[in-house]
Amino acid sequence: MISLNKIHELPSILADQIAAGEVVERPASVVKELVENSIDANSTEIDITIEDAGLKLIKVVDDGNGIDASQVETAFLRHATSKISEQRDLFRVRTLGFRGEALPSINSVSNVRMKTSTGNVGTEVVYKGGKLIEQKAAESRKGTTVEVRSLFYNTPARLKYLSSPNTELAKISDIVNRLALGHPEVAFSLMSNGRELLRTSGRGDLLQVLGAIYGVKTVTKLAQIKANDLDIKITGFVSLPELTRASRNYISLILNGRFIKNYPLTKAVIEGYGSKLMIGRFPIAVIKINADPALIDVNVHPTKQEVRISDEPEIGQLISDAIRKMLSDKQLIPDATRDF
Ligand code: ADP
Ligand code: MG
Repeated sequence: MISLNKIHELPSILADQIAAGEVVERPASVVKELVENSIDANSTEIDITIEDAGLKLIKVVDDGNGIDASQVETAFLRHATSKISEQRDLFRVRTLGFRGEALPSINSVSNVRMKTSTGNVGTEVVYKGGKLIEQKAAESRKGTTVEVRSLFYNTPARLKYLSSPNTELAKISDIVNRLALGHPEVAFSLMSNGRELLRTSGRGDLLQVLGAIYGVKTVTKLAQIKANDLDIKITGFVSLPELTRASRNYISLILNGRFIKNYPLTKAVIEGYGSKLMIGRFPIAVIKINADPALIDVNVHPTKQEVRISDEPEIGQLISDAIRKMLSDKQLIPDATRDF
Protein backbone atom coordinates (compact mmCIF):
# COMPACT_ATOMS: atom_id res chain seq x y z
CA MET A 1 0.00 0.00 0.00
CA ILE A 2 1.26 3.47 -0.86
CA SER A 3 0.82 5.93 1.97
CA LEU A 4 -1.43 8.80 0.88
CA ASN A 5 0.76 11.59 2.18
CA LYS A 6 3.97 10.38 0.57
CA ILE A 7 4.84 11.99 -2.73
CA HIS A 8 5.97 9.51 -5.34
CA GLU A 9 6.42 9.27 -9.10
CA LEU A 10 3.61 7.42 -10.82
CA PRO A 11 4.38 4.12 -12.51
CA SER A 12 4.93 4.82 -16.21
CA ILE A 13 1.90 2.83 -17.40
CA LEU A 14 -0.35 4.87 -15.12
CA ALA A 15 1.24 8.12 -16.35
CA ASP A 16 0.66 6.95 -19.94
CA GLN A 17 -2.98 6.22 -19.16
CA ILE A 18 -3.40 9.72 -17.77
CA ALA A 19 -1.90 11.20 -20.96
CA ALA A 20 -4.13 8.86 -22.98
CA GLY A 21 -7.14 10.62 -21.43
CA GLU A 22 -6.28 13.63 -23.59
CA VAL A 23 -4.71 12.08 -26.66
CA VAL A 24 -6.95 9.04 -27.13
CA GLU A 25 -10.48 10.22 -26.62
CA ARG A 26 -12.12 7.72 -28.96
CA PRO A 27 -11.29 5.24 -31.77
CA ALA A 28 -11.03 8.10 -34.30
CA SER A 29 -8.19 9.63 -32.23
CA VAL A 30 -6.22 6.38 -32.52
CA VAL A 31 -6.74 6.37 -36.29
CA LYS A 32 -5.62 10.00 -36.48
CA GLU A 33 -2.42 9.42 -34.49
CA LEU A 34 -1.44 6.25 -36.35
CA VAL A 35 -2.10 7.72 -39.79
CA GLU A 36 -0.22 10.92 -38.88
CA ASN A 37 2.76 8.76 -37.92
CA SER A 38 2.52 7.02 -41.31
CA ILE A 39 2.41 10.38 -43.11
CA ASP A 40 5.39 11.66 -41.10
CA ALA A 41 7.28 8.50 -42.16
CA ASN A 42 6.97 9.59 -45.82
CA SER A 43 4.55 6.83 -46.77
CA THR A 44 3.09 6.82 -50.27
CA GLU A 45 0.34 4.33 -49.43
CA ILE A 46 -1.64 4.01 -46.21
CA ASP A 47 -4.28 1.30 -45.77
CA ILE A 48 -6.63 1.48 -42.80
CA THR A 49 -8.81 -1.42 -41.68
CA ILE A 50 -11.49 -1.00 -39.03
CA GLU A 51 -13.56 -3.66 -37.32
CA ASP A 52 -16.53 -2.88 -35.10
CA ALA A 53 -16.01 0.88 -35.24
CA GLY A 54 -12.44 0.46 -34.04
CA LEU A 55 -13.21 -1.32 -30.77
CA LYS A 56 -12.28 -4.71 -32.14
CA LEU A 57 -9.50 -3.67 -34.51
CA ILE A 58 -7.77 -0.61 -35.92
CA LYS A 59 -5.06 -1.58 -38.37
CA VAL A 60 -2.84 0.85 -40.26
CA VAL A 61 -0.41 -0.44 -42.87
CA ASP A 62 2.10 1.94 -44.42
CA ASP A 63 5.07 1.75 -46.75
CA GLY A 64 7.03 4.45 -44.96
CA ASN A 65 10.53 4.60 -43.47
CA GLY A 66 9.88 2.07 -40.71
CA ILE A 67 11.62 1.94 -37.34
CA ASP A 68 14.97 0.30 -36.78
CA ALA A 69 14.78 -2.86 -34.64
CA SER A 70 16.96 -1.27 -31.96
CA GLN A 71 14.55 1.67 -31.62
CA VAL A 72 11.16 0.03 -31.54
CA GLU A 73 10.90 -0.20 -27.76
CA THR A 74 11.96 3.43 -27.42
CA ALA A 75 9.19 4.51 -29.79
CA PHE A 76 6.67 3.27 -27.21
CA LEU A 77 8.16 5.37 -24.39
CA ARG A 78 6.48 8.57 -23.32
CA HIS A 79 8.01 11.76 -24.76
CA ALA A 80 10.17 9.68 -27.11
CA THR A 81 10.18 11.11 -30.62
CA SER A 82 12.43 11.26 -33.66
CA LYS A 83 10.83 14.52 -34.83
CA ILE A 84 12.24 17.23 -32.59
CA SER A 85 15.27 17.36 -30.34
CA GLU A 86 15.79 20.88 -29.06
CA GLN A 87 13.69 23.80 -27.88
CA ARG A 88 13.93 25.83 -31.07
CA ASP A 89 12.61 22.86 -33.06
CA LEU A 90 9.23 23.59 -31.45
CA PHE A 91 8.99 26.74 -33.58
CA ARG A 92 9.77 25.03 -36.86
CA VAL A 93 7.71 21.86 -36.63
CA ARG A 94 7.15 20.44 -40.10
CA THR A 95 5.86 17.04 -39.03
CA LEU A 96 2.36 16.23 -37.79
CA GLY A 97 3.70 14.67 -34.60
CA PHE A 98 6.38 15.90 -32.20
CA ARG A 99 5.11 15.25 -28.66
CA GLY A 100 6.04 11.57 -28.48
CA GLU A 101 2.79 10.75 -26.74
CA ALA A 102 0.67 8.80 -29.18
CA LEU A 103 2.20 5.33 -29.13
CA PRO A 104 2.57 5.07 -25.33
CA SER A 105 -0.91 6.51 -24.81
CA ILE A 106 -2.60 4.14 -27.26
CA ASN A 107 -0.51 1.30 -25.90
CA SER A 108 -1.64 1.87 -22.32
CA VAL A 109 -5.36 1.50 -23.16
CA SER A 110 -5.29 -1.39 -25.65
CA ASN A 111 -3.36 -4.35 -27.02
CA VAL A 112 -0.89 -3.37 -29.73
CA ARG A 113 1.06 -5.37 -32.29
CA MET A 114 3.56 -3.54 -34.48
CA LYS A 115 5.58 -4.91 -37.36
CA THR A 116 8.12 -2.56 -38.77
CA SER A 117 11.10 -2.59 -41.07
CA THR A 118 13.43 -0.02 -42.53
CA GLY A 119 14.16 -2.43 -45.38
CA ASN A 120 16.44 -4.67 -43.35
CA VAL A 121 15.23 -7.51 -41.17
CA GLY A 122 12.00 -6.34 -39.58
CA THR A 123 10.80 -6.52 -35.99
CA GLU A 124 7.51 -7.47 -34.48
CA VAL A 125 6.46 -6.40 -31.00
CA VAL A 126 3.38 -7.36 -29.03
CA TYR A 127 2.17 -5.23 -26.11
CA LYS A 128 -0.73 -5.87 -23.78
CA GLY A 129 -2.00 -2.94 -21.75
CA GLY A 130 1.35 -1.17 -22.16
CA LYS A 131 3.53 -4.18 -21.27
CA LEU A 132 5.92 -5.71 -23.80
CA ILE A 133 4.97 -9.39 -24.16
CA GLU A 134 7.01 -10.47 -27.16
CA GLN A 135 9.63 -9.19 -29.61
CA LYS A 136 10.82 -11.19 -32.59
CA ALA A 137 12.26 -10.84 -36.09
CA ALA A 138 9.75 -10.25 -38.87
CA GLU A 139 9.61 -9.87 -42.65
CA SER A 140 11.67 -7.11 -44.22
CA ARG A 141 9.09 -5.32 -46.37
CA LYS A 142 9.81 -1.64 -45.75
CA GLY A 143 7.10 0.07 -43.74
CA THR A 144 5.08 -0.29 -40.58
CA THR A 145 1.92 -2.14 -39.65
CA VAL A 146 0.19 -1.29 -36.39
CA GLU A 147 -2.75 -3.27 -35.05
CA VAL A 148 -4.69 -1.93 -32.10
CA ARG A 149 -7.14 -4.35 -30.47
CA SER A 150 -9.49 -4.23 -27.51
CA LEU A 151 -9.31 -0.45 -27.25
CA PHE A 152 -10.26 0.89 -23.80
CA TYR A 153 -10.60 -2.65 -22.38
CA ASN A 154 -8.93 -1.44 -19.18
CA THR A 155 -10.68 1.96 -18.97
CA PRO A 156 -14.37 1.02 -18.67
CA ALA A 157 -15.52 4.60 -18.08
CA ARG A 158 -14.01 5.71 -21.41
CA LEU A 159 -15.60 2.75 -23.16
CA LYS A 160 -18.98 3.58 -21.73
CA TYR A 161 -18.75 7.22 -22.76
CA LEU A 162 -18.39 6.37 -26.47
CA SER A 163 -21.27 7.03 -28.86
CA SER A 164 -23.01 4.42 -31.00
CA PRO A 165 -20.82 2.35 -33.37
CA ASN A 166 -22.24 4.28 -36.33
CA THR A 167 -21.31 7.62 -34.81
CA GLU A 168 -17.81 6.43 -33.89
CA LEU A 169 -17.34 5.07 -37.41
CA ALA A 170 -18.52 8.37 -38.90
CA LYS A 171 -15.90 10.15 -36.80
CA ILE A 172 -13.20 7.78 -38.07
CA SER A 173 -14.32 8.31 -41.63
CA ASP A 174 -14.33 12.09 -41.14
CA ILE A 175 -10.76 12.07 -39.78
CA VAL A 176 -9.47 9.89 -42.61
CA ASN A 177 -11.20 12.10 -45.18
CA ARG A 178 -9.50 15.18 -43.78
CA LEU A 179 -6.11 13.46 -43.63
CA ALA A 180 -6.57 12.43 -47.27
CA LEU A 181 -7.55 16.00 -48.23
CA GLY A 182 -4.39 17.24 -46.55
CA HIS A 183 -2.26 14.67 -48.40
CA PRO A 184 -3.41 13.99 -51.96
CA GLU A 185 0.11 12.68 -52.66
CA VAL A 186 -0.63 9.65 -50.45
CA ALA A 187 -2.88 6.79 -51.62
CA PHE A 188 -5.35 6.09 -48.82
CA SER A 189 -7.80 3.28 -48.38
CA LEU A 190 -10.29 2.89 -45.55
CA MET A 191 -12.13 -0.41 -45.04
CA SER A 192 -14.72 -0.98 -42.33
CA ASN A 193 -16.00 -4.52 -41.67
CA GLY A 194 -15.05 -5.42 -45.24
CA ARG A 195 -16.69 -2.37 -46.82
CA GLU A 196 -14.60 0.23 -48.64
CA LEU A 197 -15.32 3.75 -47.36
CA LEU A 198 -12.56 5.63 -49.15
CA ARG A 199 -9.90 5.11 -51.76
CA THR A 200 -7.70 7.84 -53.16
CA SER A 201 -5.19 7.63 -55.97
CA GLY A 202 -2.15 9.22 -54.34
CA ARG A 203 -1.47 11.12 -57.56
CA GLY A 204 -1.42 14.47 -55.80
CA ASP A 205 -4.73 15.54 -57.29
CA LEU A 206 -6.89 17.31 -54.67
CA LEU A 207 -9.95 17.22 -56.95
CA GLN A 208 -9.70 13.44 -57.19
CA VAL A 209 -9.70 13.22 -53.39
CA LEU A 210 -12.70 15.56 -53.24
CA GLY A 211 -14.48 13.37 -55.80
CA ALA A 212 -13.72 10.23 -53.78
CA ILE A 213 -15.15 11.83 -50.62
CA TYR A 214 -18.08 13.91 -51.82
CA GLY A 215 -18.91 12.29 -55.15
CA VAL A 216 -18.01 13.27 -58.69
CA LYS A 217 -21.19 15.34 -59.12
CA THR A 218 -20.23 17.59 -56.23
CA VAL A 219 -16.85 18.22 -57.79
CA THR A 220 -18.45 19.83 -60.84
CA LYS A 221 -19.81 22.53 -58.53
CA LEU A 222 -16.48 23.44 -57.00
CA ALA A 223 -14.21 26.25 -58.05
CA GLN A 224 -10.56 26.76 -57.42
CA ILE A 225 -9.24 29.61 -55.29
CA LYS A 226 -5.71 30.94 -54.95
CA ALA A 227 -4.09 33.75 -53.04
CA ASN A 228 -0.75 34.64 -51.65
CA ASP A 229 1.21 37.27 -49.94
CA LEU A 230 4.83 37.35 -48.82
CA ASP A 231 4.93 34.33 -46.55
CA ILE A 232 1.46 32.82 -46.88
CA LYS A 233 0.12 30.76 -49.74
CA ILE A 234 -3.52 29.77 -50.01
CA THR A 235 -4.99 27.27 -52.47
CA GLY A 236 -8.13 25.22 -52.45
CA PHE A 237 -11.57 24.43 -53.78
CA VAL A 238 -14.84 25.92 -52.61
CA SER A 239 -18.40 25.23 -53.66
CA LEU A 240 -20.42 27.59 -55.80
CA PRO A 241 -23.29 29.16 -53.82
CA GLU A 242 -25.80 26.69 -55.28
CA LEU A 243 -24.06 23.81 -53.48
CA THR A 244 -24.39 24.16 -49.72
CA ARG A 245 -24.73 22.04 -46.61
CA ALA A 246 -26.57 22.55 -43.34
CA SER A 247 -23.37 22.48 -41.27
CA ARG A 248 -19.96 24.11 -41.16
CA ASN A 249 -18.34 20.67 -40.99
CA TYR A 250 -17.79 20.58 -44.73
CA ILE A 251 -15.30 23.41 -44.45
CA SER A 252 -11.85 21.85 -44.03
CA LEU A 253 -8.83 23.96 -43.15
CA ILE A 254 -5.41 22.46 -43.72
CA LEU A 255 -2.46 24.39 -42.38
CA ASN A 256 0.94 23.08 -43.52
CA GLY A 257 -0.61 19.64 -44.09
CA ARG A 258 -2.31 19.61 -40.68
CA PHE A 259 -6.09 19.60 -40.41
CA ILE A 260 -7.00 22.39 -37.96
CA LYS A 261 -10.10 23.68 -36.25
CA ASN A 262 -10.18 27.44 -36.34
CA TYR A 263 -13.32 29.48 -35.94
CA PRO A 264 -12.09 32.86 -37.30
CA LEU A 265 -10.76 31.24 -40.49
CA THR A 266 -13.94 29.16 -40.93
CA LYS A 267 -15.87 32.41 -40.56
CA ALA A 268 -13.61 34.02 -43.17
CA VAL A 269 -14.63 31.32 -45.66
CA ILE A 270 -18.32 32.00 -45.03
CA GLU A 271 -17.78 35.77 -45.17
CA GLY A 272 -16.27 35.42 -48.63
CA TYR A 273 -19.74 34.47 -49.88
CA GLY A 274 -21.28 37.68 -48.53
CA SER A 275 -25.06 37.49 -48.98
CA LYS A 276 -24.87 34.64 -51.49
CA LEU A 277 -25.49 31.92 -48.88
CA MET A 278 -28.90 31.36 -47.37
CA ILE A 279 -29.15 31.62 -43.59
CA GLY A 280 -28.12 28.34 -42.00
CA ARG A 281 -26.42 27.07 -45.17
CA PHE A 282 -22.66 26.61 -45.51
CA PRO A 283 -20.30 25.84 -48.38
CA ILE A 284 -18.14 22.80 -48.98
CA ALA A 285 -14.55 23.99 -48.94
CA VAL A 286 -11.01 22.74 -48.63
CA ILE A 287 -8.60 25.54 -47.91
CA LYS A 288 -4.90 24.77 -47.85
CA ILE A 289 -2.76 27.31 -46.09
CA ASN A 290 1.00 27.17 -46.32
CA ALA A 291 2.76 29.45 -43.91
CA ASP A 292 6.16 29.77 -42.29
CA PRO A 293 6.11 27.36 -39.29
CA ALA A 294 7.64 30.14 -37.20
CA LEU A 295 4.28 31.96 -37.38
CA ILE A 296 2.41 28.99 -35.92
CA ASP A 297 2.30 27.58 -32.43
CA VAL A 298 1.12 23.98 -32.70
CA ASN A 299 1.89 23.22 -29.09
CA VAL A 300 -1.48 24.34 -27.75
CA HIS A 301 -3.36 21.10 -27.24
CA PRO A 302 -2.31 17.41 -27.23
CA THR A 303 -4.37 16.61 -30.33
CA LYS A 304 -2.86 19.62 -32.16
CA GLN A 305 -6.10 20.50 -33.93
CA GLU A 306 -6.10 23.88 -32.27
CA VAL A 307 -3.13 26.02 -33.18
CA ARG A 308 -2.18 29.66 -32.68
CA ILE A 309 -1.40 31.58 -35.81
CA SER A 310 0.19 34.97 -35.52
CA ASP A 311 -1.10 36.19 -38.92
CA GLU A 312 -4.63 34.90 -38.46
CA PRO A 313 -6.51 38.11 -39.46
CA GLU A 314 -4.37 38.51 -42.60
CA ILE A 315 -4.93 34.87 -43.58
CA GLY A 316 -8.67 35.28 -43.01
CA GLN A 317 -8.68 38.35 -45.21
CA LEU A 318 -6.80 36.54 -47.97
CA ILE A 319 -9.30 33.67 -47.88
CA SER A 320 -12.39 35.92 -47.93
CA ASP A 321 -10.94 38.01 -50.76
CA ALA A 322 -10.03 34.94 -52.83
CA ILE A 323 -13.56 33.53 -52.52
CA ARG A 324 -15.14 36.91 -53.30
CA LYS A 325 -12.94 37.23 -56.39
CA MET A 326 -13.74 33.70 -57.58
CA LEU A 327 -17.46 34.35 -57.19
CA SER A 328 -17.27 37.57 -59.15
CA ASP A 329 -15.30 35.84 -61.92
CA LYS A 330 -17.49 32.74 -61.55
CA GLN A 331 -14.91 30.75 -63.38
CA LEU A 332 -15.90 27.07 -63.37
CA ILE A 333 -13.19 24.47 -63.47
CA PRO A 334 -12.74 23.64 -67.15
CA ASP A 335 -12.00 19.95 -66.67
CA ALA A 336 -14.38 19.31 -63.81
CA THR A 337 -16.44 16.78 -65.74
CA ARG A 338 -13.55 14.46 -66.52
CA ASP A 339 -13.58 10.88 -65.29
CA PHE A 340 -12.19 9.92 -61.90
P1 ADP B 1 5.51 11.50 -32.31
O1 ADP B 1 4.74 11.21 -33.57
O2 ADP B 1 4.99 12.72 -31.63
O3 ADP B 1 6.98 11.54 -32.55
P2 ADP B 1 4.57 8.89 -31.43
O4 ADP B 1 4.39 8.32 -30.07
O5 ADP B 1 3.38 9.00 -32.29
O6 ADP B 1 5.26 10.32 -31.25
O7 ADP B 1 5.67 8.03 -32.20
C1 ADP B 1 6.97 7.89 -31.62
C2 ADP B 1 8.04 7.66 -32.68
O8 ADP B 1 7.86 6.39 -33.29
C3 ADP B 1 7.98 8.66 -33.85
O9 ADP B 1 8.70 9.84 -33.55
C4 ADP B 1 8.60 7.86 -34.98
O10 ADP B 1 10.01 7.94 -34.95
C5 ADP B 1 8.22 6.43 -34.66
N1 ADP B 1 7.04 5.97 -35.45
C6 ADP B 1 5.77 5.85 -35.03
N2 ADP B 1 4.97 5.39 -36.00
C7 ADP B 1 5.75 5.21 -37.09
C8 ADP B 1 5.52 4.77 -38.45
N3 ADP B 1 4.30 4.41 -38.88
N4 ADP B 1 6.59 4.72 -39.29
C9 ADP B 1 7.82 5.09 -38.88
N5 ADP B 1 8.10 5.52 -37.62
C10 ADP B 1 7.09 5.58 -36.74
MG1 MG C 1 2.77 10.58 -33.61
